[in-house]
Amino acid sequence: MDAIKRISNSVRVLIMKANEENRINCPFGSIKLPIDLWYCKLTKQACPIQAWLDPPEFAKLERYCKGDEKTKAGIKETIQTGLYKGQHHLPGRYLCPLCKSSKGSRRYFYEGDLYWLSDYVDIDTCETRSKIVKAGISLAIYSSKICKDCLDKVLDKIGAKQS
Ligand SMILES: [Zn+2]
Repeated sequence: MDAIKRISNSVRVLIMKANEENRINCPFGSIKLPIDLWYCKLTKQACPIQAWLDPPEFAKLERYCKGDEKTKAGIKETIQTGLYKGQHHLPGRYLCPLCKSSKGSRRYFYEGDLYWLSDYVDIDTCETRSKIVKAGISLAIYSSKICKDCLDKVLDKIGAKQS
């Protein structure tokens, strides 16, 4: 009995962790660039939960969403049934993979505001590669563009700071 309880508790923790990482954006959320503020398409106001839903509890939605009960129920149902998986890839706006993993609010960028590290330094040399690994920089920089702030930080960390 206790063992089962323990297992189900740890499963719950895992699910909670997964949800932390994969928060789902509300289908009625719409982002206003460049200030990264989520607006509600229904109330036309700033979204009090910044469109971040927290399934399976949806506690924030229940408590702070300004939509009516029918809308809230609809949002929950859409997500619970797996019909809607969140806006992970919105055309024209992107997340910086380095900011994404740090704490704080996620920032979205226009593609033109993101940079390939490889345009600034040769990242395929053994020397640079080992500096990147030693500095603990995410290898996402090999497959994704990053924002200006992160670019500066990375260049600084690997000793290739642009003047
Ligand atoms: Zn960044």
